[in-house]
Amino acid sequence: MNRAFSPETVCAQGAPVRAGDDSALVPPIVYSATFAARDAAEFAAMASQSRHSRYYTRYGNPLHEQVAAQLVALEGGDADSHDALVTASGMGAISLVLLGLLKAGDHVVAQTNHYMGSAKHFAELLPRFGVRCTLVDQTDLDAWRRAIVPGTRLVVTETPVNPTCALTDLAGVAALARAQDALTVCDNTFASPINQQPLGHGVDLVVHSATKYLGGHHDITAGAVVGSRALIDALWQTQICLGATLSPMDAWLLLRGLRTLALRVRQHNASALALARWLEQQPKIERVFHPGLESHPQHALARTQMTGYGGVMNIVVRGGYDAASRFVHALTLPRQAVSLGGVESLVVHAAAMWAGTMNDEQMRVAGIAPNAVRLSVGVEGTQDLQADLAQALTTV
Ligand SMILES: *Cc1c(COP(=O)(O)O)cnc(C)c1O
Repeated sequence: MNRAFSPETVCAQGAPVRAGDDSALVPPIVYSATFAARDAAEFAAMASQSRHSRYYTRYGNPLHEQVAAQLVALEGGDADSHDALVTASGMGAISLVLLGLLKAGDHVVAQTNHYMGSAKHFAELLPRFGVRCTLVDQTDLDAWRRAIVPGTRLVVTETPVNPTCALTDLAGVAALARAQDALTVCDNTFASPINQQPLGHGVDLVVHSATKYLGGHHDITAGAVVGSRALIDALWQTQICLGATLSPMDAWLLLRGLRTLALRVRQHNASALALARWLEQQPKIERVFHPGLESHPQHALARTQMTGYGGVMNIVVRGGYDAASRFVHALTLPRQAVSLGGVESLVVHAAAMWAGTMNDEQMRVAGIAPNAVRLSVGVEGTQDLQADLAQALTTV
């Protein structure tokens, strides 16, 4: 199936890979760690084929194959020349890309602001293995231009970024990287492929925390990487060593989640934009950052590279840390929990969440204000959420 179909059709019908010979509309969960060959020739063929879906589940599983095919279609990849890997978590996907492509002496360019696990890779893990990392302000294309030099191997982007919703110019950065023979990676978790397709902007590899919008129900931890078949084959060689394999049950739940991805994201987009517009009018709110707002400093860029703006926003509450804390505690519908992108709204007081891992200066550099609140708008009724936000603001 390719992008000649609408995202809704790709989601509802899945990809045309069927697990074996059964006619079940919903693919069975193939809960087998290993698969038997009929004869010596078949065993030899199974053992030598890249990403065989019925050899050994760490190497592949029929459900991994189904999820991968669907993700290629959703990301606008070509079924013949692109492929995907599913992993046990989003960090499993990111670690796989970094460890699979980099070696000692390589140079990486990434953003000062990243999902925390990725940021730790650039600050601590990769330098330990002799990889040099240069971090740049993602909103400044000239900073990317200065940082991407001959010898840069990998350029890592995340847009919109956690938690500030700042954007990276994907086409601009990918062109700079290509000019230096570097590969570009995009963490597309916040946008989802419904709102943004980085491959179309020249990005080589798209990574996802499928724990978020792709799964969509706050019930699984999963990740994915999408890219050219050559890159995916190379990464698979590393994946079978790293072993961050998605369990068949979680692959099945991911497939189930994908069925409604387009529908859910449409609702997240509409509800979040309506609430962001309302919130920015409230006197107790200092500022709202959401890529869909005309007041977002990069809204023009958002319009060129996104077709919808997602359910996550960064709300700056007037009155400092304590005011933000009171606001979050007074909310009754959004639950106070990390993660995002599922059907239930979730809220976190960013400065409280990162206090254990960053000092005040690091938070300032990362753009995390003491009074900033990250809201992931779920698929509840927009009016109910607005009423709850309104009552919580009376406590600020
Ligand atoms: C959650 C998240 C990750 C990590 O994903 P896990 O599934 O928790 O390992 C990476 N990037 C972004 C943008 C995320 O939101």
